[in-house]
Amino acid sequence: MIQLTTATAIEKAITKARIVKPRVRVNCFGSYTVTNKTTGATYTVTCEKRGGKRLASCTCKAGELGRACYHIASAVSAHIQLAAERQAAH
Ligand SMILES: [Zn+2]
Repeated sequence: MIQLTTATAIEKAITKARIVKPRVRVNCFGSYTVTNKTTGATYTVTCEKRGGKRLASCTCKAGELGRACYHIASAVSAHIQLAAERQAAH
């Protein structure tokens, strides 16, 4: 589980996500399946807000070690977009 503080904290992961361009599938709000289109590897990313903190976790090795991986970066951008859409609908 990593805490998402600022965008710069996951900047490297975002850069990698832009290169790899993994496919992000929305399972439900806060849960995403990220697939590396080249290797076919699939990971589950969870985004949640707990106690005012934005947290994310990934099932890949880096994610389990608490590192911001590109799966998280990809899922977070989808999550932010989804959150904005939900807010706009209200
Ligand atoms: Zn990951």
